[in-house]
Amino acid sequence: TGTPPKGPTVVLGGGPGGYSAAFRAADLGLEVILIERYATLGGVCLNVGCIPSKALLHSAAVLEEAQSLASHGISFGKPKVDLDKLREFKSGVVSKLTGGLAGMAKARKVKVIQGVGQFTGPDTIEVTTDKGVEKIEFGQAIIAAGSQSVKLPFMPDDPRVVDSTGALELPFIPKRMLIVGGGIIGLEMGTVYSALGTRLDVVEMLDGLMPGADRDLVKVWMKKNEHRFDNIMLGTKTVAAEAKKDGIHVTFEGPNAPDKPQVYDLVLQAVGRSPNGKAIGADKAGVDVSDRGFISVDGQMRTNVSHIFAIGDIVGQPMLAHKAVHEAHVAAEVAAGQKSFFDARVIPSVAYTDPEVAWAGLTEEQARSEGVKIRKGVFPWAASGRAIANGRDEGFTKLLFDEQTGRIVGGAIVGTGAGDLISEVVLAIEMGADSVDIGKSIHPHPTLGESVGMAAEAADGHCTDLP
Ligand code: FAD
Repeated sequence: TGTPPKGPTVVLGGGPGGYSAAFRAADLGLEVILIERYATLGGVCLNVGCIPSKALLHSAAVLEEAQSLASHGISFGKPKVDLDKLREFKSGVVSKLTGGLAGMAKARKVKVIQGVGQFTGPDTIEVTTDKGVEKIEFGQAIIAAGSQSVKLPFMPDDPRVVDSTGALELPFIPKRMLIVGGGIIGLEMGTVYSALGTRLDVVEMLDGLMPGADRDLVKVWMKKNEHRFDNIMLGTKTVAAEAKKDGIHVTFEGPNAPDKPQVYDLVLQAVGRSPNGKAIGADKAGVDVSDRGFISVDGQMRTNVSHIFAIGDIVGQPMLAHKAVHEAHVAAEVAAGQKSFFDARVIPSVAYTDPEVAWAGLTEEQARSEGVKIRKGVFPWAASGRAIANGRDEGFTKLLFDEQTGRIVGGAIVGTGAGDLISEVVLAIEMGADSVDIGKSIHPHPTLGESVGMAAEAADGHCTDLP
């Protein structure tokens, strides 16, 4: 351990990266100032990302499950949706969490300043607040200024064209909605709107939805979700859009493009997020920022200026909250003089769609392209008593083992609750487990978690003996 430089540690940005860094640094005895431009802490994730989207996805899942119970002999009337109440529920979830963060900051004596921060030198930052400009001299800084959604230049400035933040506000229930970008964020929002009664179109430049996931998983998701869509336009570009009285008229280009513009009540732009690196005066502090706005860091989350760290979306992909939090802990610990490193073997990805799609470590596609020889074990949920009892046996669990070392290198799950189940795969990879470690660990019966043990057994050639 070393001695931290004199002066407070400033954290710029109060999202999952920023508040986690601030809290860990304070716990380790540093004097911490946390700068956030908005009135609440929590950043994109808590205010307009992970959390409100999951609140709405939960309501959507319950709504659809209730309707599916007709085949069990239980039926309800046609659902009535009170949008105001739904928004209220979602906002309540968010404020419970953001309020909790404010309390945690106070308890740790982290000084929170609400204002826009801009570096003015390698040891100084200015914060523009309601009351004026505050100048702060810092010993160390942690940049956690996050990212924002990319806007397509030709999209009209119209309330019927939204990004994920606008879509989460649930302005109204559109009859026909276009999702531009077939990634996780777009498909999650589509799941919500579809449950509320909206017909969906999706356009994706690549040749498949949910890029990054193995195609066998996406196929299962697709089979269950096709009914939501009128048109899935793959390998297709959105090239123009015009706001008219009857809707947003959108023109497409590509082999699967409709030959005339399509009209939508709501258009969601979900084509990715761009880092805020260019908007914080990083150059004044001497911190290198790439043309796209990313800041490079080393294994200890230090930028090219050794007393300034950066974490979260602003340092690169994957732009996920759980990655930001772990990077935050490393940055704070190093700032406090500890010898920490970010050396996670895997960062899991989850699409909280219905069914969920989750994966960690190597995908089959990556193993193929990187020439890694793998042994695969798959357990189909059609053989799981629990999945059948739940009326949701369309999923499967897949584990990939390195043929040479026998250790697990990747895993993927599609099915209800896959996002929760993938944690065991992450732990197994971090612990260097092999198929016997996983297969011989006794999983409770009957659970979906058993599918992980059974997939390991399957990789060893044992046939499955569930349910
Ligand atoms: P952010 O959360 O972006 O926080 C940065 C903060 O810095 C913001 O509060 C911003 O106001 C503040 N800031 C920026 N510049 C300044 C400045 N100059 N002065 C003062 N303050 C400033 N990730 C998951 O892991 N799971 C999910 O389920 C998930 N769902 C998502 C759903 C949606 C709709 C979206 C949009 C994102 C989702 N994400 C999800 C991604 C996740 O939200 C981000 O990866 C995460 O918020 C990144 O954290 P961060 O701390 O790097 O940045």
